[in-house]
Amino acid sequence: MRYALVTGGSRGLGRAICLRLSRQGYPVIINYKSNSEAALETKRLIEEQGGQAELLPFDVSDKEQVEKALDGWLEQHQEDYVAVLVNNAGIRRDNLMVFMQDDDWSSVLNTNLNSFFYVTRRLLKGMMTKRWGRIINVASLSGLKGLAGQTNYSAAKAALIGATKALAQEVAPRKITVNAVAPGFIATDMTSELNEEELKKMIPVGRFGRPEEVAAAVAFLAQEDASYITGNVISINGGLYT
Ligand code: NAP
Repeated sequence: MRYALVTGGSRGLGRAICLRLSRQGYPVIINYKSNSEAALETKRLIEEQGGQAELLPFDVSDKEQVEKALDGWLEQHQEDYVAVLVNNAGIRRDNLMVFMQDDDWSSVLNTNLNSFFYVTRRLLKGMMTKRWGRIINVASLSGLKGLAGQTNYSAAKAALIGATKALAQEVAPRKITVNAVAPGFIATDMTSELNEEELKKMIPVGRFGRPEEVAAAVAFLAQEDASYITGNVISINGGLYT
């Protein structure tokens, strides 16, 4: 059976992506770090719409945890594989570079970028053997444009876009596509303390985006029909261009 794994699937964009991929027919593996209550709510919402879901908590920034969790899942699912991988888990720790602490830098790089390497490397073998896969990386406008106060986050997301383009070329012959989405301002916990009233003045659409609007683009890239789209970045930003 073909599964979809969404990292950071407990809340925000990840929850909307889980729900959308479930409606596309995938049993969904919901990864998260610590918020079991939110992850269980995502599972409940999937089941309510007739889908199938399981929880797989691990810290995406911790190589040992990633490998242990994924090895355990693969051990229990000998006949199955993760056909759709959405690398969505992410954090931000904004500060002007002159004040930025070592941990602000390394935690953002580990969670937003190294996680991609740990999780994708482990699951790529299954996709290559089965000769079909979809890898979708959740980048950001910040990785395309660079945003003041986010040198750490912009660096991680820009690197994720570079890795997307390189891996797309490596695995294209195996019918695996690798793409990224680059959301602008989307209403989630991550952006809850931002001043939407002020910021929306510079967004042509005139509002923050909704998680479902990002999930729709991810679902599009996950389809069979999107087989000739690879190494690309889709911006979902209400016209807030770079
Ligand atoms: P969010 O509401 O803060 O949710 C973050 C999710 O990531 C949660 O499910 C959280 O799990 C999980 N997570 C965080 N650190 C983790 C770790 N070390 N291991 C495993 N899971 C971890 O964030 P969001 O707004 O949905 O953002 C999702 C992605 O979109 C991120 O990559 C973010 O950078 C990107 N993005 C967001 C926006 C925006 O405006 N919201 C814009 C551009 C890009 P727990 O529930 O267990 O904490």
